[in-house]
Amino acid sequence: MTIEFVRSAASVEGLPSDLLRELALVGRSNVGKSTLINALARQRVARAGAAPGTTRLANVYRVTEGGLPPFYLVDLPGYGYARGGDASAREFDALTRAYFRREGVNALLLVDARHPGLAQDVAAWRWVRTAVVDPAVVATKIDKLARGERIRAMRLWESVLEDSVLPVSAATGEGLKDLWTLIDRLLNRRPRRPRGHPEKAPSRRPPRNA
Ligand code: GDP
Repeated sequence: MTIEFVRSAASVEGLPSDLLRELALVGRSNVGKSTLINALARQRVARAGAAPGTTRLANVYRVTEGGLPPFYLVDLPGYGYARGGDASAREFDALTRAYFRREGVNALLLVDARHPGLAQDVAAWRWVRTAVVDPAVVATKIDKLARGERIRAMRLWESVLEDSVLPVSAATGEGLKDLWTLIDRLLNRRPRRPRGHPEKAPSRRPPRNA
């Protein structure tokens, strides 16, 4: 599996137009998007730890994995540091709003495991759910919580967002395998055909958002 940086785009016109599926990463600035991309890539492809709010670009990565359809991971600008200190997640970037008018995109919302129920994230989740058919949520930095705290935090997250939330850590690698499985599901990527059993190839279902 390889993840390679393709380009940064300041508007949707700058995004690739070659009909590959896309998975957008959405989250507050500093939630750990860049660090997670690097952890998934097992190398430094994204610039992590930049000053919050400085990136107003979408960063596009191409993910290739033998046998599976390639796709784009699109790291959208973080919310929560809007101009004028407006902390409302209802007012996403123009870029983010335009992005979700595109066809064939899905979204992964990243929230910080340590701050369950943050209003901005709850508002963002509501919005993302109206924008795409089948998004999912990941809670980052789970390594920062002690065992008892994490159970409480994850329960709270799942109850306020009314959906399952996958805990991950880019620091320890916890949950990353499950995250790949989740990504494959979000993109309707079919499992590899078992060797020597061509008749057992999975049925050809059209992608959900295509
Ligand atoms: P972004 O603004 O969403 O791209 O956030 P970054 O990836 O730059 O991460 C923000 C900060 O959180 C950095 O200091 C990271 O080192 C830290 N961070 C990100 N993910 C994790 C994690 O899984 N565990 C821990 N302990 N720290 C993390």
